[in-house]
Parts: sequence; C-alpha cells; structure tokens
Amino acid sequence: MKRREFVGGLAAAAGLAGCAKPQSDCTTGVNVPTESFEWSCVTSWPPRFPGLGMAVENLAERLDRASGGRLKIKVYGGGELVPPFEVFDAVSRGTVEMGHDASYYHKGKVDAAQFFTAIPFGLNYMELNAWIHYGGGHALWRELYEPFNLVPFLCGNTGVQMGGWFNKEINSVDDLQGLKMRIPGLGGEVLRRAGGTPVTLPGSEIFTSLQTGAIDATEWVGPYNDVSFGLHKAARYYYYPGWQEPGAGLECMINKDAWESLPEDLQALVEISCQSITVDMAAEYTNGNANSLQQILADPNIEVRPFPNEVLQHLKSITADIVSELMAKDPASEKIGKAFYEYLEKMEANTNISERAYLNSRQS
Ligand code: CA
Repeated sequence: MKRREFVGGLAAAAGLAGCAKPQSDCTTGVNVPTESFEWSCVTSWPPRFPGLGMAVENLAERLDRASGGRLKIKVYGGGELVPPFEVFDAVSRGTVEMGHDASYYHKGKVDAAQFFTAIPFGLNYMELNAWIHYGGGHALWRELYEPFNLVPFLCGNTGVQMGGWFNKEINSVDDLQGLKMRIPGLGGEVLRRAGGTPVTLPGSEIFTSLQTGAIDATEWVGPYNDVSFGLHKAARYYYYPGWQEPGAGLECMINKDAWESLPEDLQALVEISCQSITVDMAAEYTNGNANSLQQILADPNIEVRPFPNEVLQHLKSITADIVSELMAKDPASEKIGKAFYEYLEKMEANTNISERAYLNSRQS
C-alpha cells in the first residue's frame, strides 16, 4: 500500500516534543490524525465519462476535500491501468486499492454479484438502496466478496433505464424472433430465450452498428447518456421501460487490506461519500434524462413507445426461469436471490400503495 507520512506530523512532533502521545494534540486531548493515503482506483468507464465515470471522479474529489487531503485517490479510466472488465481482479489482488464498476460484470466469476447491480424486473433505485442499507443487502454483499479480499459499497445508480433504441417495431412477442440487439447480462439471456440474438459490443461501436443495420436494436442507459452517444440519430423507435435494468447500482470495491489500513474516521468518510455519490448520481441522471427527453420528444423522426404488456409479461416469465436456474446451481445465488426476492415481494406491497399509487394519481 502506498502511504506517506503526513508532513505535518514532523512539525507536530517538533512542536509538541514534551507530549507523551506523539499523535495527539495534548493541549486539547483531541487525536490529530497524522497519516495520509494515496490510492489508485481503476474503473470500467471511459475516462471522465458523463454520469458513470464522473461519479467516481466526484467520489475522489469529495474524499480529498473532506479528509483535508489525507485520502487522495487517483482515478484511471478503463484500459488505462487494467482492462475495463478486470477491475475486480486488480483490486482483489491488491494491484490497486480501489475499483469502480458494476457488480454484474463479475457474472461467471461471482454470479450472485448480479443481484447487487440490477435484475430484470427487480428492485428499482429506491428499493435497492433500501435493501442494501437497511434490508440486510450490504451484509450479504460483504460476505460474498470476503473470499476475494474485497469490501464493496454501493456507489452510484442510474435509476430506471430505457428499453432501448429499435429499428424494428415490437408489437408482439413474435417480433422478438431474430431480433439482433446489443443487450448485456441477464437481460441478454432473457432475449436469447425469447428468440432474439443478444450481442455484446463496446460502447464505442454501438452507434455505427445500429446505423449500418448490423444490429436491429440496442439498449444503453437512458435519454441523458443515449443522446450523448448519438443513438437518437440511428433508430426510429425508443421503447420503455428498461425492464432489463430497473435501477442499476454501481459499486466501489476496496481491497480489504487497504480498507483495514484506514483509520476509523477515513473509513466512515468513504462510507458516507459512497452513499452521497449514489444520491448525487441518481439526481444527475433524473435531471439529465428529463432534459434530453425534451430533445427526443421534439424530434419528428423518433417515436417514444411503451413495450406492449404482452411482451413485458413474456420477458418477465423468462426472467423467472433464468433466475430460478441460477439459484439452483449456485449456493451463493440461492441465498442472496432468496433474500432479494423476499425483499422485492415486501417492497411490491409497499410500492403499490405509495409511489405507484401516487404517480398514477398525478397522471391525469
Ligand atoms: Ca443498460
């Protein structure tokens, strides 16, 4: 771990030579922390990418400012230090102290990690926050990452995403047959079983693939990020809702040895800062989505449409099969999935009489 002694420590030692406790201010009895930390943080995002990448830049900036410079984090974009999808391994090994990405990227290595980002038709932003911070989710997450020497924190959320950009109309489940769509993760698996062809493309290739007809459709995030990618210029139909990612939570992972080397006040600062980034990012997306949607609605070449309910119910039923299979083959997924779905059921009852009822009433 890269550390350096706080330069002020020397001055303090010189000035308080008679003090019995070298790390204390003997005049007040208050402990003056003397150690500072310089960490590296690798991410899956392009450098300073709007929303996702800026969230971790903001985290580093807040930690620096709030710690008075005692915890400095140098953020690396995907590929700058390690490839975008090797963040988990780099932090686990201790190559770097911190990483920022989405836990569903660890599918195949830690399948159960998917429950902490997004599950199709699963918890939304507010519900995921509630589960992680109050409903026992964080303890399950920490337990899952313990063998990898990692400490995870929820750090960002995109809110509910959009279904995506389509150059084919989706009027029934039959229209999913042969649909070639960029859609990663569990959502892609659902599309495959519905008869479509999910493809994985790096962000940089999505626009051209859609424009040239190499793919029929793509999901990305929502209006805010989609417009900045130019996707509105490459497809006619913009479908909602984003059943595949109802509130994608991002993660900040810390190497456990690095975490334990932090004094308690800096640990508390990391926890508080990650929570603040989650709230802040959701606010940024809500604001950005509303602004970009105005631009989309004003464009005569775009139709914003809901998926037919028949299609959504079909996708939901396939999701249930896939998640059941995942839980049957992996004990960690069974334990975490059971907790997740019990929480979802409880939340459904609550959301029905609160947010859903209110939002329905607001719509005239
Ligand atoms: Ca997405």
